[in-house]
This record gives sequence, structure tokens and C-alpha cells, in this order.
Amino acid sequence: MRLVVDFSRCESNAVCVGQAPEVFDVGDDDRLHITEQPLEGSLANRVREAARRCPKQALSVVDD
Ligand code: SF4
Repeated sequence: MRLVVDFSRCESNAVCVGQAPEVFDVGDDDRLHITEQPLEGSLANRVREAARRCPKQALSVVDD
């Protein structure tokens, strides 16, 4: 599974950070940053939920 972020849609509101802070972070620069790591198990489920909840539909999950 891969996470794809459309940064042109993201408004850095940090909804996804609440779902999976291990993966998502909004930095002091007020931009979303992604930590690359294997998306497996419960973390994968939370990333999927983050994608569902993103109010800007900026997150996509691709199953390889
Ligand atoms: S929830 Fe969506 S719009 Fe908000 S910071 Fe995450 S990717 Fe960006």
C-alpha cells in the first residue's frame, strides 16, 4: 500500500495528523510533511481513515 498526497489540494488543517501522527506532521512552516515508512497493520488502517476524513480529498491510498 502506498500513500499519495496531492499537495495542491492540501490546506494543512492537520485532520490527518490526528489519525496517524507517525506518518503525518504539519511543521512550523505550516505545511504537511509525510514520514515514509511501511504502512501495515493498524497503521495502514489509520492512514486509510485519514484519507477518508481529509476534507480536501488530498490523500489517496494505492494498493500495490
Ligand atoms: S487532512 Fe488533508 S487537507 Fe488536512 S493536512 Fe491532511 S492531507 Fe492536508
